[in-house]
Amino acid sequence: MFIKYDVIVVGAGHAGCEAAASAANMGSKVLLITMNMQTIAQMSCNPAMGGIAKGQIVKEIDALGGYSGIVTNRSMIQFRMLNKSKGPAMWSPRAQSDRMLFAQTWREILESTPNLDFYQDTVNELVVSSSGKIEGVKTGLGHTVYAKSVVLTNGTFLNGVIHIGEKNFGGGRVAEKAATGITEQLVSLGFESDRLKTGTPPRIDGRSLDYSKMEEQKGDEDIVGFSYLEKPKLKAENQRSCWITYTNNEVHDLLRSGFESSPMFQGRIQGTGPRYCPSIEDKINRFAERDRHQLFVEPEGWNTVEIYVNGFSTSLSEDIQYQALRLVPGFEKCKMFRPGYAIEYDYFPPTQLQFSLETKLIKGLFFAGQINGTTGYEEAACQGLMAGINAHLSAYQKDPLILKRSEAYIGVLIDDLINKGTDEPYRMFTSRAEFRTLLRQDNADLRLTEISHSLGLASDERLNLLQKKIAAVEEVNNYLSKVNVEPEEINDFLKSVYSSPLLNKQKASQVLLRPGVGLKQMSQQIKSLESLKEYEDEILEQAEIQTKYDTYIEKEKQLVEKMSQLENLVIPDSFNFDNLVSLSTEAKQKFKRIKPRTLGQASRISGVNPSDIQILMLFMGR
Ligand SMILES: Cc1cc2nc3c(=O)[nH]c(=O)nc-3n(C[C@H](O)[C@H](O)[C@H](O)COP(=O)(O)OP(=O)(O)OC[C@H]3O[C@@H](n4cnc5c(N)ncnc54)[C@H](O)[C@@H]3O)c2cc1C
Repeated sequence: MFIKYDVIVVGAGHAGCEAAASAANMGSKVLLITMNMQTIAQMSCNPAMGGIAKGQIVKEIDALGGYSGIVTNRSMIQFRMLNKSKGPAMWSPRAQSDRMLFAQTWREILESTPNLDFYQDTVNELVVSSSGKIEGVKTGLGHTVYAKSVVLTNGTFLNGVIHIGEKNFGGGRVAEKAATGITEQLVSLGFESDRLKTGTPPRIDGRSLDYSKMEEQKGDEDIVGFSYLEKPKLKAENQRSCWITYTNNEVHDLLRSGFESSPMFQGRIQGTGPRYCPSIEDKINRFAERDRHQLFVEPEGWNTVEIYVNGFSTSLSEDIQYQALRLVPGFEKCKMFRPGYAIEYDYFPPTQLQFSLETKLIKGLFFAGQINGTTGYEEAACQGLMAGINAHLSAYQKDPLILKRSEAYIGVLIDDLINKGTDEPYRMFTSRAEFRTLLRQDNADLRLTEISHSLGLASDERLNLLQKKIAAVEEVNNYLSKVNVEPEEINDFLKSVYSSPLLNKQKASQVLLRPGVGLKQMSQQIKSLESLKEYEDEILEQAEIQTKYDTYIEKEKQLVEKMSQLENLVIPDSFNFDNLVSLSTEAKQKFKRIKPRTLGQASRISGVNPSDIQILMLFMGR
């Protein structure tokens, strides 16, 4: 019934979809096995993509030839560029999607991908050779399917247990069964696994809400989107609004009355939850002094009245959830579609992986997504993309693609996971990246598209677009550095942006360095810059960023150069850390466990001190 595949991907969540698409687009024969074909690309929690640092990741996925950006562009109901008042390193695109359209769009894309087959079944065992190489998978329906590489993207399904108040039952998401067998087999093969927890809020009937008591949050006028290949078709005036309301002391008191039956406070939940996405009971417990918490009231799509209550994730009993919600302004008459819940699941501490996301213990076996201890669609999707690429490369015995920390947030994420591991759900933040000025959302294509094209993933169309963009930005930059602007043509404009007037003519590139001075406005208001009006906003924005932030960008590039010297010092596989008596015990233990490939990697392992690196450097020098 089945051919021998190059790559099998297990699970069709955000990681699985990207993994299957990338491996197939690179030329592998791929089988995507998932428990339920109706839940391909299901958004388990809120139907939103992007946000701070996560938006940068989606644009990186897009630049590399993945689909999360395109799917979001085609399914968004609202778009906002967050942090626009800060510098461009902090700008982060975020979209509210139509949940059903998101999943449908992904499915259409996958079904039109050549080389990609589908099968609905549950994988409950891996086929591993006696020499420790993956050979395939076994399914619940009793099939054995063979492949050169296997990517596991089981999400929250491995031995998942759902908690609502005192009730608990097995499940990978509510109304979906948990996956058993895989953890037990991997542990018997020497893997370590542990438990994590996440949660989701109740969903509400939007017809029962009183929006006049909430603050409206509209989308942006300028819908930039997430893809360098295609622009969103959504028109600014058609966007759906989100709404903001707040909890209050009455809500908190009511929630507290449910703590006795709380699975979290009564110790029935053992797994650690996401620190930066705590449940409402966790928030009122940890921040007892706060008399209110913000709630975002978010529509789930174009053609549904279902509402997602962002900020009210909970595993208290349904009754308590319902009563507490009815005390929130605007929710007095709310009707609940479904209660919130918490889920505990197995994950595999990611220090057991190589940078390619291949496991250290089983050759050809890759892990991506929540199974590695991360949380979030974007974090999952980018790992899926990288695992798909590397599963293909491994199947064809080629070197893996490993992105550096200075090249992409994806590089930061994978490097963090492998060097530091994680014992709580890992999500991306801009603060995790040391080269934020380089890793902007606007330049992900400049950073990554050529790398991906050279591997055969990013299409020629993408590369052509990139080359045109580079040429156009260069033209604008050259023009700005040559043309002079006269005081009489610019001083009114400078006055309008509270900038001091020019006394003599000045190069346009010099004027652009002033705070508050933007290139698009200059091209619209200054005669000698009129010719720039023919360039798209994206080109003008890129030229402006490159001019304004040139000094910072150059400084960061020099820092990258310095750091890369440590990255070039390779630690041989056979290196015996026991020979270094003066190493700290913690460093020695971690080096032996993580086996850093370079001095750079060794220096980023948590608990390793500069003195440990010096000792290592001295010894290697000898
Ligand atoms: C209740 C809940 C709340 C969440 N809340 C948040 C949040 O607030 N913020 C946030 O950022 N993230 C949240 N998440 C996490 C987010 O949903 C995940 O990070 C993301 O979906 C992970 O993607 P993934 O591809 O790794 O796995 P998933 O999206 O979970 O997909 C896993 C896929 O694998 C399939 N599968 C699993 N096991 C097998 C098997 N053995 N055989 C065949 N198919 C299999 C499943 O059917 C599914 O299609 C939440 C998740 C849940 C469940």
